[in-house]
Amino acid sequence: MSNIKKMETTVGRHRRVIMFPLPYQGHVNPMFQLANLLYSKGFSITIFHTNFNKPKTSNYPHFTFRFILDNDPHDERYANLPLQGMGAFSRIFLFNKCGADQLRHQLELELSAKDEPPVSCLITDASWHFTQSVADSLNLPRLVLRTSSLFCFLIYASIPLLDDLGYFNLSDNTATPLLDGLGYNNVPDDERLEEQVAEFPVLKVKDVIKIGFKKDNDGMGDIISNMVKQTKASSGVIWNSFKELEQLQLETIRRDIPAPCFLIPFAKHFTTASSSLLDQDRSFFPWLDQQPRNSVVYISFGSVAQVEEKHFMEMVHGLVDSKQSFLWVVRPGFVSGSTWLEPVPDGFPGERGRIVKWAPQQEVLGHEAIGAFWTHSGWNSTVESVCEGVPMICSPFWGDQPLDARYVSDAWKVGVYLENGWKREEITNAIRRVMADEEMRERSRALKQKLDASMIEGGSSYESVESLVDYISSF
Ligand code: UDP
Repeated sequence: MSNIKKMETTVGRHRRVIMFPLPYQGHVNPMFQLANLLYSKGFSITIFHTNFNKPKTSNYPHFTFRFILDNDPHDERYANLPLQGMGAFSRIFLFNKCGADQLRHQLELELSAKDEPPVSCLITDASWHFTQSVADSLNLPRLVLRTSSLFCFLIYASIPLLDDLGYFNLSDNTATPLLDGLGYNNVPDDERLEEQVAEFPVLKVKDVIKIGFKKDNDGMGDIISNMVKQTKASSGVIWNSFKELEQLQLETIRRDIPAPCFLIPFAKHFTTASSSLLDQDRSFFPWLDQQPRNSVVYISFGSVAQVEEKHFMEMVHGLVDSKQSFLWVVRPGFVSGSTWLEPVPDGFPGERGRIVKWAPQQEVLGHEAIGAFWTHSGWNSTVESVCEGVPMICSPFWGDQPLDARYVSDAWKVGVYLENGWKREEITNAIRRVMADEEMRERSRALKQKLDASMIEGGSSYESVESLVDYISSF
């Protein structure tokens, strides 16, 4: 991994890129990895951010920060927004609706600043769809960072078609997948659920339902359709992925989106340590260092997902019965109704395991003691696991996660999909299966090797970075 150091190169020098992440961990991480990468290529970086989930600016003395959109403490629209759980996402709806004037004002200031390098372009998260028309009105090229997979984009772009096929009528619109542990607990019994989706043969109908798209709720549906529309209208799309993983999807997207696409596996360039919104606990490393190779299950369900206490207890028993060592990230608030570990029985985890609130995930996945990753299948976690060749046990919740889990288990075959809810026997079996499956471990290793090869000069990921730098320099 490279150090954050401006290279002595003329490429990108004296040019500035303005970057605007969605203020959630899974979106902040790849945007800052991209910012580090562009900085290392000689660009100056200005970050636009909300005060909500403010990054640690002291970790980035080489970047300029502007805090926008929620600055006014007297504006009740922002003051009363929830800080935790699903409600925290309400900011995406609100700022997409009413953020344009503030963004335009700040961009005008940047574009006319005399003491700063001239601005090449704006790079925003794909879900900040309102930024496209603002950038257009200022003749400023806008590139998009899409923090999910290419296949997820294609599936989201097909939601109207999937809706016409009646799939969303099969779902239970009262489901609250984020809060009840798993969305699929609410998927009703229907024989169509096991059918293949003709347009996406890897997927089953039940995978589409688990996205959690609700017809009557214009909030998320609105974001998705505008995200797709304004990504297609952008000047370029950057993906946290690599060509060898999503070759067919890339070909389809290139037919669909006129602007260039750049596939860059960010975890191969920078870790997410400096953009972590929570403090990373490193105290378990002496314990991990003593564990045999490939013997420990690493468990983390990302920055947002929550489980009910009864499901959490199934996880505990499933782990104990598996008799495997484990390192478990239990975020404060992960178990709904608990502040942290109140439901945990006396004596757990014992010598076989360690529990922490937040970990340096990439470093953990790269540790030779880690033999499997039990994950919620968030896209960053999935790519990070692929980068380190670690097989996965997938327990997705909603959105792109059920799609990622299906591709991991059925297309790339580098993990198992724990499909049938929170049952301790199934958890135990899945853990044992993945830990013992040498063929799956070999496939995971082979996929990592493909990725490593793509990073070498002449490889697809290497070339993607070079062409992105050339492209931004051409504006
Ligand atoms: N992460 C971390 N420490 C942890 C758990 C997660 O640094 O203990 C990071 C992880 O490396 C990834 C991000 O948080 O970059 C989670 O993103 P993902 O897309 O996997 O899930 P989300 O949080 O968006 O649901």
